[in-house]
Amino acid sequence: MKKVFNIRLLAEFLTILGLINLFLIYFATSNVSSSTLQNKLETLPLKRPVNLFNLEESIDTIFNKVQKVGAKPITEVKKTKLNKNENLSSALKRINFKKFEIGKIINSISNLHNGKKILSSLPVGMIIHYSKPSNLTGGAVKINFDKTKDIFVWQDINNNYKSQIYLRPTRLQNTLIKSVIENNLYIAAQNSGIPENTILEMISLLGFSVDFQREIRKGDSFEILFTKKIDVLSNDIINTNPITYVSINLSGNILNFFKFKDEFGSTQYYDENGKSSKRTIMKTPINGARLSSRYGNRKHPILGYTKMHRGLDFAAPTGTPVFAAGDGIVEKVGWNGSYGKYIRIRHTGIYKTAYAHLSRFHKNTKVGKRISQGKTIGYVGSTGRSTGPHLHYEVIKNNSQVNPMRIKLPAGKNISKSNILNYQNHVKKILNQKISLERSNRKKKLAINHYKNSKELIIN
Ligand SMILES: [Zn+2]
Repeated sequence: MKKVFNIRLLAEFLTILGLINLFLIYFATSNVSSSTLQNKLETLPLKRPVNLFNLEESIDTIFNKVQKVGAKPITEVKKTKLNKNENLSSALKRINFKKFEIGKIINSISNLHNGKKILSSLPVGMIIHYSKPSNLTGGAVKINFDKTKDIFVWQDINNNYKSQIYLRPTRLQNTLIKSVIENNLYIAAQNSGIPENTILEMISLLGFSVDFQREIRKGDSFEILFTKKIDVLSNDIINTNPITYVSINLSGNILNFFKFKDEFGSTQYYDENGKSSKRTIMKTPINGARLSSRYGNRKHPILGYTKMHRGLDFAAPTGTPVFAAGDGIVEKVGWNGSYGKYIRIRHTGIYKTAYAHLSRFHKNTKVGKRISQGKTIGYVGSTGRSTGPHLHYEVIKNNSQVNPMRIKLPAGKNISKSNILNYQNHVKKILNQKISLERSNRKKKLAINHYKNSKELIIN
């Protein structure tokens, strides 16, 4: 007991000693340090607060804006939308702003950088927040004229209207989505909430090595890692960055592709061994998003390659863009008997590709013209001997048709030996990022389940 008491006393003594010391140091240095701090503050740009989102979010409302700029106070904020055939003037007139006020507001916006251009191209449906002026209160307007920008208009204490353009605050969000394919990759991707442009990117990336019509089976799956840019205020997705990683499991055959910037600064996709995702000839030379479902489509059976049918058919609606499967020169464009409207391209080396039953040709598809891979050359149709709209696709090797499913085509430019270590580290980083996202997704799921369970418990 006695020992404990002594130690406590000692600790208290030391604490007091420490405090006295601190005081002494403070008095000795306070004058000097405060003046240097002052100098620093004057010369260095002020650091932005750590809680950036909250700050920018709070600036967003007209109320906060008016307070911040010391404008005339406002009362009630209302909301309307820009109707069809309306401009800002007529919209303000509709909501009973007075004519001279409208003039001042429009004038103020016109004086902004590109102001007149902005006013002449306001999107229909644009949200207008407004507060009407009275004797004691000021007028204010906020328009969300662009995905990423707002214009604020307010009245200063001299009743003059002022305006300014503001960037809406955004944040980047890494997103990992895993999905099982029921019958169509596009629909599975759509159902799992992947934005449209990212789906199209994924389809054109995989279209080099996957025949979407024949190689995808019920129960196949994919996962994709990409970055969304999100509007902090509305929570809307503004855009997405190019896909970071995508993997598809075709009946156990797994293809992985990673985005990588090579030593020359060009961004390409490669598999885990550094092989390019690109092939000299695409397996699916059509907008894969619009392929008809593989199942339940008895009217137009999707034929495979046989002796009788030396090509592959892709069932898709009339008008679906057909792509040049590889770089080459157009050899034939026109009617070709039972093939109907037909295009043939001669590629470098021994390969040619042919496209039949088209509804029409692209205006730039002319005999003798050089064409690059992925460019639209024509549109799906049902011309010639055809039972319904589809693309009949042939790969011709040494002047005879071969099965596109079987041929092993050389890949594009692979990762160079000198860059392979860099690439491997890059792949590791992406996979680690994937694992941590998997963990946080699992936690979120657990939290939701827990919430559900606890709710049920309360109900019961
Ligand atoms: Zn066919």
